This record gives sequence, structure tokens and C-alpha cells, in this order.
Amino acid sequence: MPFPIWVGVCIFNDLAIAARVLQTLGLVQSVLIVDLDVHQGDGTAVIFADDPSVFTFSMHCEVNFPGTKQQSDLDVPLPAGMEDEAYLQTLAAHLPDLLDRVQPDLVLYDAGVDSHFDDRLGKLALSDRGLFCRDMQVLTTCRQRGYPIACVIGGGYADDFEALVYRHSLLHRAAGDVAAQSQFLIGA
Ligand SMILES: [Zn+2]
Repeated sequence: MPFPIWVGVCIFNDLAIAARVLQTLGLVQSVLIVDLDVHQGDGTAVIFADDPSVFTFSMHCEVNFPGTKQQSDLDVPLPAGMEDEAYLQTLAAHLPDLLDRVQPDLVLYDAGVDSHFDDRLGKLALSDRGLFCRDMQVLTTCRQRGYPIACVIGGGYADDFEALVYRHSLLHRAAGDVAAQSQFLIGA
């Protein structure tokens, strides 16, 4: 099966390719893509628009790029300026039910950090702690329900490079904490 390529910020859609390779190898059948980058996962939405084996979930800032949104299987547009508590509550209102509904063989998680309040392109207002809590929430929700999850870092456009590196490290710190409690995670 040829890989469709959606050209946006990145030439290759790593999550789409990973999902297709794993399916082709017969390692998984159904995949849930959880895209929490502040920009909509529009490429992923288009690539899997007619494919019920890959469920696309995007939670993003509604007024952010792209101006014209695509249709994911589940889109949760967020108002500009949303802070930690409201964000985490919104995520908690969707992810557990989504896992129960889709029952994927694998979750692929895009942990973009451009939802940080200090991001140049973000327009949301999460703190470092909020990003860490978000990652812990995704990981523990999947683990508690028995769903394997693989994670990638995503967008992040801060002028302070060290601060940006630290924000990306939060995913690895969260995954390390969760993995220390269980040998459940793969590829994190
Ligand atoms: Zn982004």
C-alpha cells in the first residue's frame, strides 16, 4: 500500500508511516492516534479519513494554524488562552471514553509542547507542570486500561532553546515515571 504524504511543517508524517508499517507487518490492526500538538493533526486526519482501522483524535487550539481544519475522527478545538486545569479536565473528559470505544491495539501519542504559554506559535497557556501532567495523564490512562502506547515529541517553537529542550524532556520524564511502575510501555 503506498504511503500518502501530507506536506505541512514536516515532509513525512511519522505517525502515519509508523501505523502503516506496523499494520503491514501484522503487529497491530487498530491504532489510535492521540495528537495533542497545539496545531490540528490535519495531515493525519486526511491520510486516514477513509480508514476505520486508524482513529485520529486531535485536541488543538481552534484559532491556530491551519486556518482551514480537516476532519479527524474526533476533533476537540480549544479556545485560545486555555490554562492547565481546564486543559487537563478537557482531556480527561475524552480520552478514557475514547479508549473504551476504540479499543486500539496501539496508541500513538504526539506530545507537542507548543501548547506552552511561552511558545511563539502556540496560543494556549499551559505551564511546564501542565505539560508534565498532560503526559502523565495520557500515559497512565492508557496503562490503567491495558493499552500499549508509543510516544513522539512534537511541535515547540520557543526562542529559549534550553527551555524548549526541557519541555520536550517532560515526556521522557513522565514515561520514565510510569515505566518504573510497570513494564507496560513500549517504544517510549
Ligand atoms: Zn504544532
